[in-house]
Amino acid sequence: MAGFTLELNDDQKQVRDWLHGFAEDVIRPAAAEWDEREETPWPIIQEAAKVGIYSLDFYAQQYFDPTGLGIPVAMEELFWGDAGIALSIVGTGLAAVGVLANGTEEQIGTWIPQMYGTPDDVKVAAFCSSEPDAGSDVAAMRTRAVYDEAKDEWVLNGTKTWATNGGIAGVHVVVAVVDPELGSRGHASFIVPPGTPGLAQGQKFKKHGIRASHTAEVVLDDVRVPGSCLLGGKEKLDERLARAREKAREGAVGSPAGGGGSVKNAAMATFEASRPAVGAMAVGTARAAYEVALDYATTRHQFGRPVIDNQGVAFQLADMRTRIDAARLLVWRASWMATNGKPFTAAEGSMSKLYASEVAKEVTAQAVQILGGNGYTREYPVERMHRDAAIYTIFEGTSEIQRLVIARTLSGVPIR
Ligand SMILES: Cc1cc2nc3c(=O)[nH]c(=O)nc-3n(C[C@H](O)[C@H](O)[C@H](O)COP(=O)(O)OP(=O)(O)OC[C@H]3O[C@@H](n4cnc5c(N)ncnc54)[C@H](O)[C@@H]3O)c2cc1C
Repeated sequence: MAGFTLELNDDQKQVRDWLHGFAEDVIRPAAAEWDEREETPWPIIQEAAKVGIYSLDFYAQQYFDPTGLGIPVAMEELFWGDAGIALSIVGTGLAAVGVLANGTEEQIGTWIPQMYGTPDDVKVAAFCSSEPDAGSDVAAMRTRAVYDEAKDEWVLNGTKTWATNGGIAGVHVVVAVVDPELGSRGHASFIVPPGTPGLAQGQKFKKHGIRASHTAEVVLDDVRVPGSCLLGGKEKLDERLARAREKAREGAVGSPAGGGGSVKNAAMATFEASRPAVGAMAVGTARAAYEVALDYATTRHQFGRPVIDNQGVAFQLADMRTRIDAARLLVWRASWMATNGKPFTAAEGSMSKLYASEVAKEVTAQAVQILGGNGYTREYPVERMHRDAAIYTIFEGTSEIQRLVIARTLSGVPIR
């Protein structure tokens, strides 16, 4: 069994401790204020940029950690600090991954640095896929991208919703339909450069939690972008569409619903790989709430003894910690598999996100209960953590969709 270890190496421990310090000293003390303000915490993003946490280099280093644990360890620490502020810091990464996954080397080199800006002039980026009528059902997307061959431009029209950093971003990455006949296989991603006419922010949402993170509609009205903004380029798109048409013809003959029993298209595979990162965010929030609850239960006295001196409380804490550790192990397994090219034959990425997000929701609710009346107030952070945790079972695929993906992958049956 030599070679197997769950211990972080020295480099990973150093990064973890550095991030923990930033989360403890900078993020956590600012959490309540930005939650109340419901605004993007630009000064904190700037501080993160100055120390090198908000940067492409930092994410690339974690992303290419050969054990796969770089990203989950980073996410857990930052979200331990505060989920809303941490999402403001890492939200740009979602758009960057969209470009990394589909863009050419030139596009990666041109656009990703612009997404982050510089420490003196920080920028954020947005990834816009969801629409009012296309949330879980990505194939129902309506935003259209039409090619204007004469001008070598793409024209985008439609309304995106729930975009993290939508409208306040410099660079927007927009997923749009190029061939409506092909469902999600007929989608392509586009860069909308900063200041492009026709792109506007719609409604900004007032949310239950992660309120320091900006979430808004993005309206695209005859937005024209150069042909070079199609991620991956036209030739690759044409080849991909030709293959998808071929598959659709085969599917129409051979299998029900286009053979939709398993996760096969590239976008879905990318989501599968990014889901453990969301699981790690959930672990961070859950751990934060658990620590507050443990501390409170050992110091709060009722009936002449600490409240933890009752099995009803102590056993809850035992379960909370056990489930948090189990969630982390699922996240680490999936991240290790993704980095080492192991196929998710049992949808392990979805498993990790499903379990960790549900644990975060339940553990934060238990923490509120353990703090009693204080847990229900904004004097203590578990109230905010509980509100924040509710997002994890919703974005990047709801818990129901994770179960659907897992069940379909296990069974090969196109379960609905
Ligand atoms: C704060 C926040 C930030 C976000 N950031 C982004 C972003 O940056 N970019 C982006 O593109 N999107 C983003 N999203 C969108 C997010 O991914 C969607 O909200 C999510 O995918 C769910 O879609 P929906 O809200 O339309 O719910 P719906 O799809 O309408 O689902 C409603 C309910 O029905 C259930 N349901 C739907 N279909 C099925 C089924 N087949 N079987 C069983 N149950 C089903 C769902 O699980 C859910 O409980 C964000 C959302 C939020 C709230």
